[in-house]
Amino acid sequence: MSTASESPVITAPRGTHLHCKGWVQEAALRMLMNNLDPEVAERPEDLVVYGGLGKAARNWDCFHAIVKELKHLNDDETLLVQSGKPVGVVKTHPDAPRVLIANSNLVPKWATWEVFRELDQKGLMMYGQMTAGSWIYIGSQGIVQGTYETFAEAARQHFKGTLAGTWTLTAGLGGMGGAQPLAVTMNGGVCLAIDVDQTRIQKRLDTRYLDEWTDNLDTALALVQQYVDAHEARSIGLLGNAAEILPEILKRGLLPDLVTDQTSAHDEYNGYIPAGLSLDQAAVMRKAEPEAYVQRALSSMRTHVEAMIEFQRRGSVTFDYGNNIRAQAQRAGCENAFAFPGFVPAFIRPLFCKGIGPFRWAALSGDPEDIAVTDAAMMELFPENEGMIRWLKAAKEKIAFQGLPARICWIGAGERHKAGLMFNELVKSGRVKAPIVIGRDHLDSGSVASPNRETEAMKDGSDAVSDWPLLNAMTAVGGGASWVSLHHGGGVGMGYSQHSGVVIVADGTERASRCISRVLWNDPAMGVFRHADAGYEIAQEHADAIGLHVPMKAQ
Ligand code: NAD
Repeated sequence: MSTASESPVITAPRGTHLHCKGWVQEAALRMLMNNLDPEVAERPEDLVVYGGLGKAARNWDCFHAIVKELKHLNDDETLLVQSGKPVGVVKTHPDAPRVLIANSNLVPKWATWEVFRELDQKGLMMYGQMTAGSWIYIGSQGIVQGTYETFAEAARQHFKGTLAGTWTLTAGLGGMGGAQPLAVTMNGGVCLAIDVDQTRIQKRLDTRYLDEWTDNLDTALALVQQYVDAHEARSIGLLGNAAEILPEILKRGLLPDLVTDQTSAHDEYNGYIPAGLSLDQAAVMRKAEPEAYVQRALSSMRTHVEAMIEFQRRGSVTFDYGNNIRAQAQRAGCENAFAFPGFVPAFIRPLFCKGIGPFRWAALSGDPEDIAVTDAAMMELFPENEGMIRWLKAAKEKIAFQGLPARICWIGAGERHKAGLMFNELVKSGRVKAPIVIGRDHLDSGSVASPNRETEAMKDGSDAVSDWPLLNAMTAVGGGASWVSLHHGGGVGMGYSQHSGVVIVADGTERASRCISRVLWNDPAMGVFRHADAGYEIAQEHADAIGLHVPMKAQ
C-alpha cells in the first residue's frame, strides 16, 4: 500500500485525447483525478479532498485500481465502488450509469464514528463526505454561491438587503468554510474568519477568497472597526482557535452583526482542534490519547457554542452553518445548544421547495474559455433570471478556478434539464472543445435526509425520514445518469445524514440528450416532491407551475 510520502501528484488530463473507451468513463476518470488535484484537494497526499476526512478513494492502491478499471470499462459495463474501493464490474447497457458508488454506509444501529473508525483503521471503509467520494467536488466555488445566497437572505431578513456596514464573525477556512469571506464581501460586508491552521489561511489568500490576515486579535478587531466604519467590503483571516477567541471577543463587549461557524465540528477526532493545543500538539495527542482528545474537542465545542448563544442573546444574528456543532456541544452537556437555528430553515428552504440548489458543471477540455461560453449561454437561456445573471457575472470576475474550470449556479426543477440539453448542443456543435460534466452537491433539495441540517424542522416533522435520498438515487440510476452515489454521514457526521449524488456527462450524443432530459428533470423534481409531501405550499405551487404530477397532493 502506498504511504503518504509515496503519494503521487495527481492532475486530470485536459483536451480531447481519450484514455478510456468512451467519454463517460473518461469523465469519471478526470473528475476523480480532479478531486485530488493539489489546487482542489485540501490534503491530496492523504486523498483527503475536503470536509475533515472526506476522501476520493480509500487508499492509493484503490485509486490506481479504479483508474485501471475505468480505462478498460466498456459502454455496456458498470463499475461498482464500495467506500472508495473498486469491487466489481457488472453487465448493464449504454444508457445505464458507468459507475455506481456507495460510501460510508453503516447499518443504522452501528452508524457511529467509533464503529466507522474501527473499520477505517482495518482498511474496510472510507469517509466520502458529499462530493469528495462522488467525484464532483470543484473546490471552494462549489459552496460559494450557496454561502452567498445564505448571507444575501440574512441581509434581506435582518439588514435591509445589504451587509454593508456590518461584520460577520466565523471560523473555519477549509475547503467549504473558505467560501465564507468571499460570500460576505460579495454581499458588501466585513468578515472576520478564524482558523487555527495557517496553511488554510494562505490557501484562501492564494485563491482570492480572503483579502488579508493577521495572527493578532487586537489588529484584527481594529481592521474590522476601520472597514465597518468605512462601509468597505473586506475579509480578514485571524490565526487562532475559535473556542478561545469567541469568548475573548465576548469579554471585550464587542458584538458582531452575524455569527456562524464552519470548522469541521462534525468530526471531533479529525476535524476540530481543541482549545489550548497547537496543530502539532493536537496531532500528537490525537494519536497518543484518542479518547482524551475527543473529550477535549467536544468540551471546546461546548465553549464555542456557549459563546455563540451568548452573542445571539446580546443581539447577533446567529446560525449553525451545517457542521453539526450544536449536536456536538449538546453531547458535551450544553443543554440549550439548539438555541440558534440551522441555515436551511433560517434562509434556504424556500429555494429547496422549488428544487433550487447547487447545480454545477466542469469543462473536461480544461479550457477556461469553455466555461465563458457556458456562462454566456446560460444568460441567454434564462434571461428572466436576474439573480442568476448577477451571480454569473460576479463569479466570472471574482472566482479563481481550481483544477478543471467549473461553474456553480443555483437553478431548480424545470430549469436544469434545459441547461443540460443546451450544454449537450454546445458540445455537439463544437462551440466548446470537449464534453461538459454536469452534477450537483448532495446538499440539495431532494437528495438528502439530515435532521440537523437540510431537513431540520420540516413542516410535517419528517426530518429523519431517509427514504427520500434512496428514492433519489434510484431515479438517477433509472434515468441513466453517468455515475450515481449513495452516502452516509456527509456534512454532519456518522449517524446524522444519508444522501445521494448524481453526475451526467454531456458528450454531444443522442444518448446523452435522452439521459439528460430524464435525469435533470427527475433529480430536482425529487426536491419538489419531498417538500410538497411535507406540506410546503411553495413546492405544491411549483409542481403545478412546471407540470409535475404529485399523486396525493395536500389539500
Ligand atoms: P475542512 O476540514 O476542509 O476545514 C475545517 C477548518 O476548520 C480547517 O481549516 C481547520 O484548521 C479549522 N479548524 C478546526 N478546528 C478549529 C478551531 N477550533 N478553531 C479554528 N479553526 C478550526 O472542512 P470544510 O470542507 O471547510 O467544511 C467545514 C464544515 O462545514 C464541515 O463540518 C462540513 O461538513 C460542513 N459543511 C457545510 C456546508 C454548508 O453548506 N454549510 C457544506 C459542506 C460542508
